Amino acid sequence: MKTTQIRSRGWLFTFDDIDGLYTNVFVIRCKDYYFVCDTYLGPEPMNKIKKLLFKNFGEKQFIVFNSHYHWDHIWGNCAFPNSLIISHTSTVNMINIYGEAELFSNKKYKQGNVKIVKPNMVFGNTISFPNEKIVIFYSPGHTFDSSSLYDMLDRVLYVGDNIEDPIPSLENKEFDQYIETMKKYDNLDFKVLIPGHMRNEEDLPKPKIIKKNMKYLTSIMDQTGLSTYQRKQYRNIHRRNLESLEKIGYVPIEK
Ligand SMILES: [Zn+2]
Repeated sequence: MKTTQIRSRGWLFTFDDIDGLYTNVFVIRCKDYYFVCDTYLGPEPMNKIKKLLFKNFGEKQFIVFNSHYHWDHIWGNCAFPNSLIISHTSTVNMINIYGEAELFSNKKYKQGNVKIVKPNMVFGNTISFPNEKIVIFYSPGHTFDSSSLYDMLDRVLYVGDNIEDPIPSLENKEFDQYIETMKKYDNLDFKVLIPGHMRNEEDLPKPKIIKKNMKYLTSIMDQTGLSTYQRKQYRNIHRRNLESLEKIGYVPIEK
């Protein structure tokens, strides 16, 4: 686990247990609460983070945010039994449908005794914590249920899996909505963007990643310029995307 301070009150915990795909848990040390963005692979890493925070900054309540329903973002929810766990309404529906099945098929990645715990507070468009200067908003993209968290004080934006370097993983064919989400990000005044995953442990993506990801989405949607994504740095993710889009009935003519 690598720990990085982000601006005045953010702590980024980066893990490397999923076959070279670095995964982030982002914690914001607010006035009355610690906000935890996504909970990784189980209670073990979450208890480690809790201990570290308590030791360095004292005890506070936690508010947990799940950016979307995928297993590698929610398995540590069970380490926060008395906390608010917040997500978009559809995240709870998706966990109801896929939670146990994903736990079974990815069980080799479990860290600790994982019990599927669903969010206990849901929102539609946005939910705000004015005292803590935190806004959480619906931002469909990577999945239909994706949402993001913005720290207004530090101007840090946590985007879950909506943004990825070099291109995002797709499993939702509502590209218009995804592009709207990208535009929303682009219009936000943020200093640091934190994705759920990184290919490289050292580098957070630069803000220009938004335009780069948007270009890819436009290519998929308009079916133009897709040959670019046959290049080595994109090829595997692009191929996986075409496969998962095909499963939901979207096949670009030009591959
Ligand atoms: Zn995901």
